[in-house]
Amino acid sequence: MSATFPSYENPASLIKRSPILFRPAMTFPLSDELLGTFVPIAVYWIYSGIYVMLGDLNQYRLHTKAEEETKNVVSKGTVVKGVLVQQAFQVVVLLLLFTVARSDSGVVLPQPSLPVIILQFFVAMVVVDTWQYFLHRFMHMNKFLYKHIHSKHHSLVVPYAFGSFYNHPLEGLILDTVGGALSFLISGMTPRTAIYFFSFATIMAIEDHCGVWLPGNLLHVFFKNNSAYHDIHHQLYGTKYNFSQPFFITWDKILGTHMPYTLEKRKEGGFEARPIKKMD
Ligand SMILES: [Zn+2]
Ligand SMILES: [Zn+2]
Repeated sequence: MSATFPSYENPASLIKRSPILFRPAMTFPLSDELLGTFVPIAVYWIYSGIYVMLGDLNQYRLHTKAEEETKNVVSKGTVVKGVLVQQAFQVVVLLLLFTVARSDSGVVLPQPSLPVIILQFFVAMVVVDTWQYFLHRFMHMNKFLYKHIHSKHHSLVVPYAFGSFYNHPLEGLILDTVGGALSFLISGMTPRTAIYFFSFATIMAIEDHCGVWLPGNLLHVFFKNNSAYHDIHHQLYGTKYNFSQPFFITWDKILGTHMPYTLEKRKEGGFEARPIKKMD
């Protein structure tokens, strides 16, 4: 006896007609949110990797190699591991956040016009700078927070590119992840724009810590926060100054924590950033 089975529609054609219905619940499509999580991490290692490939750059260094070895109290291996741990921590937090806040509509927001994107970029820069200035300064004033959290970042007295995000994971979470989320929400930028913004913020953080002063660096034209400015903050004498990061130096100027400097040629090669104001 032959049984007749109802004829089912080919599942593949159903999926084509209704991709949202058949999207597996536990996987992320290659969304802008996912790119916004991972692209800045790739940018971090690629951009700082370029600085590594450029070599010692003795003619442009802000500290000699010997100083780097004697003043820094952590090895490069420890720094790489520390940054990877912090990035892993951030990925977990962001993916959890996206899982909770994820919309299943599958609608990709259209990009606004270029002037609007530029304005959103600017607003986001101001938000990140403001958030980071006050928290950064507070972490220096509060002895407990400095000792247990922020001193980890300052163990690199002579900063270098891939040490830029060498932070306590809590500092990375509060300053970078929460700061980034606030800048995203307040500026109203789309997740697509955020991929570029977070990547740019990563590049600026590396620029502030790269430890060299390369001639013709266009970013120096637009941003007064740079490797020399932030180098002052990383010196043992400079930790009460130049808290601003990563874009502008406005908060330091407004609140009297700005330490101007001169760039002097060093006889061993390279430059030295020297404070030009008397310090307390
Ligand atoms: Zn600091
Ligand atoms: Zn720093």
